[in-house]
Amino acid sequence: MLFDQSKNSVYRDVFAGVREIDNLMSVNIPSSDVSRINAAAGIERVNVHKDTFTVIERAVFFAEISSGAFDPSVGPLVSLWGIGGDNADVPLREEIDNALSMINWRDIELDAQTRGVFLKRKGMALDLGAIAKGYAADKAAEIIADAGVKRAIIDFGGNIVTLGEKKDKSAWKVGIQNPNKKRGLYFGVIQVNKTDRKRTIVTSGVNERFFEKDGARYHHILSTSTGYPVNNGLLSVTITADSSTDADALSTTLFALGYEKGIKLIASFPGTEAVFVFEDNTVRTTQWANFTITDNSFEFYNMQE
Ligand code: ADP
Ligand code: MG
Repeated sequence: MLFDQSKNSVYRDVFAGVREIDNLMSVNIPSSDVSRINAAAGIERVNVHKDTFTVIERAVFFAEISSGAFDPSVGPLVSLWGIGGDNADVPLREEIDNALSMINWRDIELDAQTRGVFLKRKGMALDLGAIAKGYAADKAAEIIADAGVKRAIIDFGGNIVTLGEKKDKSAWKVGIQNPNKKRGLYFGVIQVNKTDRKRTIVTSGVNERFFEKDGARYHHILSTSTGYPVNNGLLSVTITADSSTDADALSTTLFALGYEKGIKLIASFPGTEAVFVFEDNTVRTTQWANFTITDNSFEFYNMQE
């Protein structure tokens, strides 16, 4: 994180705010709202914190507009694959089918009055891994802006938020992860508009978390129709938007939907742009993505639609 003033109290407030979100939404914390919801699947409704409710509502919205390609009830499939953990392995077909039968965002019952969440069937489980980090990034940006900080760049491991412009009055330039390389190696740059008070850049890709077996790579964005890691020719999708929550959800959604459907969907989000990277090293961006290629092993197309 980088601020124009390094007031310790701001750092402390940001870390506390982010930790609070983790304590509410992590599936790895037994007392979290999400863990409580999952433990009560098929049994009873659980009342949750307003932040948790907001994120689940938004996740269900993205499930609806993607016809379930993005689905926060993907939990059973995520834990079955265990990608990113020590014992990740390819599950049996039967186990995959069983997990798939538990996934359906329509069986998430939300009650706005009480902020109640009910998973209708036993064995269902929420996983907010594709959206909660974006929400935490938005929260951090809000805390920083409320403290009166005029310019900052916040990096949440793949989720970037910029506030204001740089000290020398130039626009922020953010490197975009090369999906063929290890973290920190860029293949292009997105330039943030100087007039944007707040902007976010979020990437979902095959190189974030994966394991390899028998020469095949298994990454962590899972298809809710096949039960396997999404395999559609994409290596990564980067979204730039005002809301990091939406950008996080959209990067995963567009990755899961694939290029053709993805580019149609993003057209309904004004001010939101996308950069798609394909296995054949071609790159396509939406018209106003403000993207410049820096690695010439990629072929670049700006789609003027
Ligand atoms: P990152 O963790 O690198 O920011 P993403 O935002 O793309 O990556 O989210 C990937 C995570 O989202 C997975 O680790 C898993 O927890 C969850 N997930 C995987 N597949 C789906 C899906 N089809 N819909 C919703 N969430 C998913
Ligand atoms: Mg995401």
